[in-house]
Amino acid sequence: MFTAAEILDINQLLVPENKIVIITHYNPDGDAIGSSLGLKHYLKAKGLSPEVVVPNDFPKFLKWMPEAKKITIADYKRKKAAELIAEADVLFILDFNAPIRAGQLVAPWIEKSRAKKILIDHHQQPECFDFVYSDVTIPATSQMVYHFIEAMEEERLVNLDIAQCLYTGIMTDTGGFRFRSTSAATHRIVANLIDNGADPAMISGNTWDTNTVSRLHLLSLILGRIEIVNDGKVAILWLKRDELERFGFEKGDTEGFVNYGLSISGVQLSAFFMEDLYENFIKISFRSKDLVDVNQLARKHFNGGGHINAAGGKYYKDIYETIEDFKEIILDEEF
Ligand code: 5GP
Ligand code: MN
Repeated sequence: MFTAAEILDINQLLVPENKIVIITHYNPDGDAIGSSLGLKHYLKAKGLSPEVVVPNDFPKFLKWMPEAKKITIADYKRKKAAELIAEADVLFILDFNAPIRAGQLVAPWIEKSRAKKILIDHHQQPECFDFVYSDVTIPATSQMVYHFIEAMEEERLVNLDIAQCLYTGIMTDTGGFRFRSTSAATHRIVANLIDNGADPAMISGNTWDTNTVSRLHLLSLILGRIEIVNDGKVAILWLKRDELERFGFEKGDTEGFVNYGLSISGVQLSAFFMEDLYENFIKISFRSKDLVDVNQLARKHFNGGGHINAAGGKYYKDIYETIEDFKEIILDEEF
């Protein structure tokens, strides 16, 4: 958490005269949107007028969240997003650790910004900002936003909007309160969010029970050809661009697919390779169990990073070559 002195400094920045912008990472997920909107609603409850900017569009199943539709998407509203960031006095950097994770369009805007930059994030190796609250043991940035509200001694301001957004972020980044870093503190906070109106059935229904038939067909295609290597310890899943097109792919349709690989008994590492719909690279998602460190794997070989048990990256070869390279690389890994 920020030190007491930092909290005082931050408090002095959070005044109506200052323009406040909250920004999150490229391809925003449930925690990115949940933490950004949760923080926005908290700052609004303090009488401020913050804006949320995201680098590119996010899945439909997150758009039910309060004020999700007011988010400025830099890909679509370049001028407005650039102006908001350029004019900001305070920039909250949420759920990412380095400007480049905001993508090639937005990263330079963050670097050039004269705003005071406040990082709240749970990824490894955070870069230097004016104020840094980084903790890789916490399962969701949304939980850290709640801790921040506690540190500001303003839990009384937690309202329905804040509760719904933070609950969604915690629920999605813990895989439904299942992943290892889910703690008693996580559950205590979730209990407070429910006390303040977050409705678990409504939120999980809106976020997760939104499958389309095309998504299920896509899932059945990749499950039908799942490959297991390294003595049953590694699962490989993949999708090509023409398949995405055939099934009318929409953003978010493949969310969670990689977890099916990890759900196989004995599998320690699951890798999902997908051709990008527009550009010539392969987007990779990794998930692992226990001590298998996919953050290191993604950093070392696949131009990426993330967490120990959930990471991602990019590779600039054809999909079959990418998978062959991956198989060779993991032969040398010990697990
Ligand atoms: P996902 O597989 O859901 O896209 O990403 C899982 C985790 O890996 C997320 O925490 C995300 O921040 C991180 N991640 C995904 N792709 C990249 C990437 O290209 N670079 C880095 N540094 N992290 C990534
Ligand atoms: Mn997160």
